[in-house]
Amino acid sequence: MTGIFRYKLGQPVTWYDRRKKRSNQYCLYCQRFIGEGSEIPSNKEHLIGKNFVPGGSFDNGRAFNFVFRACEQCNTDKSRLEDHVSATTLISSPGRGMDEKVDDLARRKSNSSYHPTQKSMKLADSNESVTLNFGDFSFGLVAPPQTNERYRNRLALLQVQGLYALITSSDPTNKLSVGLLPSENCWVLGCYPRSDWGNSQLIEVTRRCEKWPCYANISTANGYFKALMKREAPDNEWFWALEWNKSTRVIGCLAPPGELPRLFQGLPELEWKVVTSEGSVTHRYREETPLPEDQDTLFSAQVHDCA
Ligand SMILES: [Zn+2]
Repeated sequence: MTGIFRYKLGQPVTWYDRRKKRSNQYCLYCQRFIGEGSEIPSNKEHLIGKNFVPGGSFDNGRAFNFVFRACEQCNTDKSRLEDHVSATTLISSPGRGMDEKVDDLARRKSNSSYHPTQKSMKLADSNESVTLNFGDFSFGLVAPPQTNERYRNRLALLQVQGLYALITSSDPTNKLSVGLLPSENCWVLGCYPRSDWGNSQLIEVTRRCEKWPCYANISTANGYFKALMKREAPDNEWFWALEWNKSTRVIGCLAPPGELPRLFQGLPELEWKVVTSEGSVTHRYREETPLPEDQDTLFSAQVHDCA
């Protein structure tokens, strides 16, 4: 990334200062004024929560992160989302097979992190199981704990709002030059487990914006967090992608609310097959398509010089 306020290669970008007037003037999430004279309590926020990824991933604060001032309410709200999304994405992280510490952490998190909608249920106990019957035989399927869709979309929105401000603000301590992203402009197309990164939708979106200028291509926390932002041309749609704990990708775009953004029009349908259907309960499945590593080009873009 270039041309970013207080950016130095390979280090955290810090917009936070103890003094409000030397920090960013608006909460990058809810867009309320939190500068000098504001009554809204605010504090230090990390775009990628330190506990969202395995411990030690930020190399004692030397690796990239984005640190700024946020209102306390958004800060607390985001930690809660991170807690859940981190636990569910670490459970299926390939990092568990490579590093014992990551495996331990994933277990600990799933044993202490509670399911967001089923109160008092630990994530570790929330495997979804279903028995399928085909005439004479039946078999059971168990799916790992799933990330709650509302939590996941909300966390993606907050992270994209942070990134948007990072690359579009010329001086966030100056009220007039902060780039803030209204939440209604952020579209989420979908969320995909690693076992399905080769599905036809993801491949097609990646192809469509392959040549778009790239404004951020971040890989930090030992690869446990990745983010990408591209824009076709000034005034046009943006494309964004996030990768969490090496196991989950969420993609979307920035476009006005209303009509489906052009980037997502006419995409191939992902085919679902219905296995059983009884009354209002339908079980369906979709064959997942893994992506060979040498064909994975989503995060391979060169950052466009916007200085
Ligand atoms: Zn806020």
